[in-house]
Amino acid sequence: MHVLIVEDDKRIADALGEAMQRFGHEVAWVASGHEALEAAEKAEFVLLDLGLPDLDGQEVCRRLREQSWVPIIAVTARAEEVDRILLLQAGADDYLVKPYSVRELLARMDAVTRRAAAPAAAEASGQGSDDRWVIGPLSLDIRTRQVEVRGTPVALTRREFDLLAALASDVGAVRCREVLINEVWDNNWHGSTRTLDVHVGSLRNKLGARQWIEAVRGVGFRLVVPEHG
Ligand code: CA
Repeated sequence: MHVLIVEDDKRIADALGEAMQRFGHEVAWVASGHEALEAAEKAEFVLLDLGLPDLDGQEVCRRLREQSWVPIIAVTARAEEVDRILLLQAGADDYLVKPYSVRELLARMDAVTRRAAAPAAAEASGQGSDDRWVIGPLSLDIRTRQVEVRGTPVALTRREFDLLAALASDVGAVRCREVLINEVWDNNWHGSTRTLDVHVGSLRNKLGARQWIEAVRGVGFRLVVPEHG
């Protein structure tokens, strides 16, 4: 993803940019609201610091929203500065309070991207329904939790379905292990990551081709339509 970092503190921007790149994102950095409005056109995701030297952060948010539907996570220095309602009204998809962990940011970015991608995926497939995702020969109905490969129903357990949905929400993108575990199990889950591998294995079997789920060493997994699948 092309991530635009709007942040006037260079140290924070550098650290953030490095982390984003480590997770495979392309990064652009600007230090003011006016620059943000100019640079936003190319962005697929905006991380917006609300304390900028030139424009009020909420104003930047509002103007970005006039230009596009790019997902925006607002970042603020102190909890008391956040008026969540106003922020959401200004068009932010979520917000974080500094200091936050990269892990938390990535999880929020994933959630926001997923919400944004679900209708788009259905539209692209021409299905017209937000609940039905069609990915090559695979189709997922998020509402009824039914899965088909080439029209043949595939019976999945609850966790297997959640895992597939987490991967399918952004086809081709690498989802890191921690994020998948958080999404499919829960925040208080302290089991071994072996559980994730076991579920990936059974999902591959049930989908009928190992290639559906590609392992990215040291990071996580991604969903790929098999070439001859
Ligand atoms: Ca700032």
